[in-house]
Amino acid sequence: MSDISRVLISAEELDRITTRVAAEIDRDYKDVEGRIVLVCVLKGSIVFMGDLMKKLTVPVEIECVRISSYGSGTTSGGRINLLLDVDRADIGECNLIVVEDIIDSGLTLTFLVKHLIDKGAKSVRTVTLLDKPSRRKVDFKTDYVGKEIPDEFVIGYGLDYDERYRELPYVGILDPSVYS
Ligand code: 5GP
Ligand code: MG
Repeated sequence: MSDISRVLISAEELDRITTRVAAEIDRDYKDVEGRIVLVCVLKGSIVFMGDLMKKLTVPVEIECVRISSYGSGTTSGGRINLLLDVDRADIGECNLIVVEDIIDSGLTLTFLVKHLIDKGAKSVRTVTLLDKPSRRKVDFKTDYVGKEIPDEFVIGYGLDYDERYRELPYVGILDPSVYS
């Protein structure tokens, strides 16, 4: 616990957030035509997506994408590479919901949404657990937001620092002594 300066979002609050977001998605997708496919942005979104999908009542399928953006430590870089893509022949029938852990500059989701539209998806929306609106470099608005947070580097509930802390059941603020 000493690496964590404080708990920002408790396990109980995360449970309330995923319940609310799932209800919003249910409401919007209950009459949609075609398949509904959650797209997990590996690896950080694994925990959020697992909790979210269990609370949905609309039938969903899942896919995963993996992206590397070159940067180091606690800053995300600007150059984006797609390491794992959605590969389905029926993409034109798929209503994709991209599930992201956190939006910072907005570059990752801007790139990914354009990429999936270009591939011919029937529709593309995005959901993020966390949003740091003060950090945007590009104007990107997500369709569903768990919680807006201040400009602090957070870990836990899937989010890592140097591949650590993903297993924590809460979202915490990493003590700057860990990375400075
Ligand atoms: P961006 O919106 O800048 O393209 O990138 C978002 C990505 O940067 C997230 O998916 C995540 O991998 C990383 N990121 C941004 N802020 C944080 C943070 O506070 N903690 C962690 N662990 N990752 C972050
Ligand atoms: Mg991510």
